[in-house]
Amino acid sequence: MKITDVKATEILDSRGEPTIEVAMYSDDMTSVFGVPAGASTGKKEAHELRDGTDRYNGKGVQKAIEKLESIRSKLVGQELYEQEKFDDLLISLDGTEDKSSLGANTIVGLSLSYTLLCANTKDQPLWRYIADTYSTSPNFPRLYANLVNGGKHAPGLDIQEFMIVPKNNNMPESIEKISEFRIKLKDELSKIFGSGAELVGDEGGFAPTGATAKQMLDLYKSINNSMDNYFEFALDSAASSFYKDDKYVYEKNELNAKQLMDLYNRYSNDYGMLSIEDPFAEDDIEAWQALSDTDHKFLVIGDDLTVTNYRLTAQYAQEKLIDGVIIKPNQIGTMTETMQTIKAAGENNIKTIVSHRSGETTSTFISDLAYAVGAFGIKIGAPVRGERVAKYDRLLEISKEIR
Ligand code: PEP
Ligand code: MG
Repeated sequence: MKITDVKATEILDSRGEPTIEVAMYSDDMTSVFGVPAGASTGKKEAHELRDGTDRYNGKGVQKAIEKLESIRSKLVGQELYEQEKFDDLLISLDGTEDKSSLGANTIVGLSLSYTLLCANTKDQPLWRYIADTYSTSPNFPRLYANLVNGGKHAPGLDIQEFMIVPKNNNMPESIEKISEFRIKLKDELSKIFGSGAELVGDEGGFAPTGATAKQMLDLYKSINNSMDNYFEFALDSAASSFYKDDKYVYEKNELNAKQLMDLYNRYSNDYGMLSIEDPFAEDDIEAWQALSDTDHKFLVIGDDLTVTNYRLTAQYAQEKLIDGVIIKPNQIGTMTETMQTIKAAGENNIKTIVSHRSGETTSTFISDLAYAVGAFGIKIGAPVRGERVAKYDRLLEISKEIR
């Protein structure tokens, strides 16, 4: 079975910004993948190609589409079920270290729509195809539901994500409980901050202005108490976004790394944190090291630090800087490299959390990926807004498929 055609179009993502949608064809099957985009990106992420012209404030992706057109004839006729060979071809056609020639957005669109086409032509659900191809053990991830947004995703709070994580991985039940928690939170936030507090940020979580992290965590704790402590809590600090001149500008105070670490330990003692992602800036390696050298009760997760790169993941896991790693296919660019990072995490005994981006499409690839590889967790925002709900709904669908 071969690729018979490939097409790319410019569509809008959940922030209303342009992105690429790739459609790939075989004789009688099609696959479509819409590429997501981050806002709080790591410096070492593969390069996202944007036009830089007047259209869409420079964010158009017509150049990326032209690039895809220019290699189309080399892609048509390629055999299916040879992911590594296909990805190697993309990497060699690009020819750069950071995928800046074709663009990581072009490449990930092609690479993941190829995986999807392979699954579709075998009439298999995507998760089954991935699990068979990479000999992984499917299992449902724990849901990291981001119900309060800050950082680069919303005005207000400095910490980017305040997540609740059901203690089990039962999809229908944990999705129901997350929704119930969200409604209780909405009522409480409007009582305290007025009706504007019901507005949401990029990932569908509430975005109260004038609130503190402590206020949010106190609310989380009291709602959780009323729900028999069904959840644990987790944060994504995305600390690079409030790191300025070697200091962390946090809730209007300038903190050094030690003071920020003390704060995390306080949050952990008072609220019981399951994990904290990007607790320090990606350049502040000393701070990550200091955290690793001290006793902490939460898992330390790398995202901007590790950018789904298998070498960085293996290195920082071996140096004991991280207990887990965020997996975002568009940070690295291909399915093969994404799976290499997941493998590197497994070999180094750290956890994987598959993740959406803050700018999303309705593609549900990551729900299948997380289940297929038996990831520890999945981050797909709040269970509202179509692009996030699509991923929750896909997990529900998978839980029916396997019954
Ligand atoms: C994150 O930092 O984990 C995240 C999902 O945000 P973004 O997509 O903006 O990088
Ligand atoms: Mg992150």
